[in-house]
Amino acid sequence: MHPLHGLNSSHRRPGEVHVIVGPMFAGKTTALLRRVTAESDTGRSVAMIKSSKDTRYAKDAVVTHDGTKFPCWPLPDLLSFKHKIGDEAYQKLDVIGIDEAQFFGDLYDFCCEAADLDGKTIVIAGLDGDYLRRSFGSVLDVIPLADTVTKLTARCELCGKRAFFTLRKTDELQTELIGGADVYMPVCRLHYANEQRSAAMETARGSFGATIAQNDLVVKTAATV
Ligand SMILES: [Zn+2]
Repeated sequence: MHPLHGLNSSHRRPGEVHVIVGPMFAGKTTALLRRVTAESDTGRSVAMIKSSKDTRYAKDAVVTHDGTKFPCWPLPDLLSFKHKIGDEAYQKLDVIGIDEAQFFGDLYDFCCEAADLDGKTIVIAGLDGDYLRRSFGSVLDVIPLADTVTKLTARCELCGKRAFFTLRKTDELQTELIGGADVYMPVCRLHYANEQRSAAMETARGSFGATIAQNDLVVKTAATV
């Protein structure tokens, strides 16, 4: 017998990590719900977690842009989940879905523990990049842990072609600005570049000093995410 045999003998099957990324309005939450519902339909025990920061549609449900709902645990962080749900309920869980994963700073540690040690299947949906196309939160950090990675695309709001990026319509600069179609739109590469260029020209016409102060703020905000 292998010396390590028995360490995981209490687990029904090994854990898995699946990551779904893409811009806003790409159907990430829909894909997550479809996946978790399919697991539930085969008799596996499932739970859904979302960030308590995101209260756009409902506090205790994951809701897609088209209105499909799934009950969830709204949490400020992931490592508190085991405590919140209780040890016994956690042990019985097979599948954990995580929506808006970019808001969880402890995503990497949670996935390691839940998939490697506890044998859970984790399905994560989140933004890969922010509105400046920089890595958002810890979503990209878990890709080395993943069994599968899926990048979904939306439709460019300006031309209807495939959209890979999220453009912010307002000139607010904090990284975490939670909003919907009023604040963000999915765009293709061409329109992302065009809009960024015209925003830069507008900024150049404004006060140079104010721009430096605002950029400094963005760096600080990003560092605390
Ligand atoms: Zn376009």
